[in-house]
Amino acid sequence: MTILHHPGDELVLGYAAGSLAESWSIAIAAHLTYCPICRHKVEAAEHVGGSLLGGLEEEALAPSALDLVLSQIKGVEQEKPEQWQASIEESSPSKQESILPSALQSYIGNDIDSLPWQRLGNDVSQYLIKTNDHEAKARILRIKAGRPVPSHGHRGRELTLVLSGSFEDEFSKFRAGDLEDVAEETVHKPIAAAGDDCICLAVTDAPLRFKELIPRILQPVLNI
Ligand SMILES: [Zn+2]
Repeated sequence: MTILHHPGDELVLGYAAGSLAESWSIAIAAHLTYCPICRHKVEAAEHVGGSLLGGLEEEALAPSALDLVLSQIKGVEQEKPEQWQASIEESSPSKQESILPSALQSYIGNDIDSLPWQRLGNDVSQYLIKTNDHEAKARILRIKAGRPVPSHGHRGRELTLVLSGSFEDEFSKFRAGDLEDVAEETVHKPIAAAGDDCICLAVTDAPLRFKELIPRILQPVLNI
């Protein structure tokens, strides 16, 4: 499995520092299950952060500490990919067991088919994950093979982590473990690849902006 799309350094550092809201944290933790590169970044950040920040004035230290963490992360990026191969195989979720990373199983169990899916039109279903997060919402989306999510823009940020299957939008192709980070000004229309349904974790901090009328009408009811 080759992960091509990773969270940005600010999300990885935020995760390592424990400063992300719960729903963003779930997405990063789930991505880490698939991605040894980002796991190494988190470890480097925790290591550097722990040894530097302990007992020192935060104000005086902040800029240089961040530089140091980022330089450690660059070091991680320069390591050879084969060093990670073993851990990829050990840690990837097994197809026979569950497609869900453990960070998600603790919220929703391990049987994706038994979730009380809520339909969002003909092609997409969702399950809203119960969290204590008031900043962002996390949901599992199931997009039928070969079918699109209605074109939408964003009032905030949207992180989408593929758990199973794949999708493509105007920007790239995303497979299991890939994380797409979409900003407020972006409009896109994700389409699931033919073959298998695409199951994703999506985290948003504001309602989406749908172009088409029907999703727009249903939006308040469906909490999307
Ligand atoms: Zn990664």
